[in-house]
Amino acid sequence: MSGRLEDLRGPQVAETLGPDSVVVLPIGAIEQHGPHLPLSVDAVIAEEVASAVLAAVGDDVDLWLLPTLEVSKSDEHTWLPGTLSLSGDTLSRVLDDLARCVAATRARRLVFLNGHGGNSSLLSTACRDVRLAHGLLTFLVHPFVPPASGGPSTEEEFGFGIHGGLQETALFAYLRPDEVEMRLAVRNVPEWMADNRWIRFGGPVQFGWTTRDFGVDGHVGDPTGATVELGEQLFGEVVEALADQMREIALFEFPDAEPAGSTG
Ligand SMILES: [Zn+2]
Repeated sequence: MSGRLEDLRGPQVAETLGPDSVVVLPIGAIEQHGPHLPLSVDAVIAEEVASAVLAAVGDDVDLWLLPTLEVSKSDEHTWLPGTLSLSGDTLSRVLDDLARCVAATRARRLVFLNGHGGNSSLLSTACRDVRLAHGLLTFLVHPFVPPASGGPSTEEEFGFGIHGGLQETALFAYLRPDEVEMRLAVRNVPEWMADNRWIRFGGPVQFGWTTRDFGVDGHVGDPTGATVELGEQLFGEVVEALADQMREIALFEFPDAEPAGSTG
């Protein structure tokens, strides 16, 4: 069986969720995405992708969605008012609180489905923190692995299509065609960094940045070629990959792990 946790009646939870259940927390963001996209992009993508993955796995995986966490850590965008951001400390505590609630059920697997690249390093840390604190098996998955975490970005964007660029704009245009202002979409690619050997997004030398460091537009990438068709293709690929990841997550075990719950 699979579904949304919130749709169960209280007493059903104990009989429905079990050791094979995979509990998924979609995580979005409400943050500026350049002149052409609304603040909701990451929240919409996280929610829509999670819903589609739920439909795609059907009852192959005992998958349970938690409500999408729409506000997360977006401090690289707070220079532009309208962005809503939790501090890293607050988000870590929210994740710990939710993980404690998941650990109170019989489920043992918790997946963070991350729609916002800026959360990635904190969520990697949270995977280990939650494993230690609550004994859950923890996983971090992305609709797109962010370029800053080693994921791909298009050649035309020199690996800098990290925020409101081609792929994200296309995906959002497919999901919410009426909410994209393509006439306001402009190229904003930091080509001055293109020849860097070491200092790149996802490169060997990491660097601290905010989107303001790349100009006043707010996005980083080239959304000008984004189309609904490309978005539809990307959405299909993303959902298929994530559904497959969920199937593997459902079977994942450490051969030598202590029984669930033994760490408290
Ligand atoms: Zn985004």
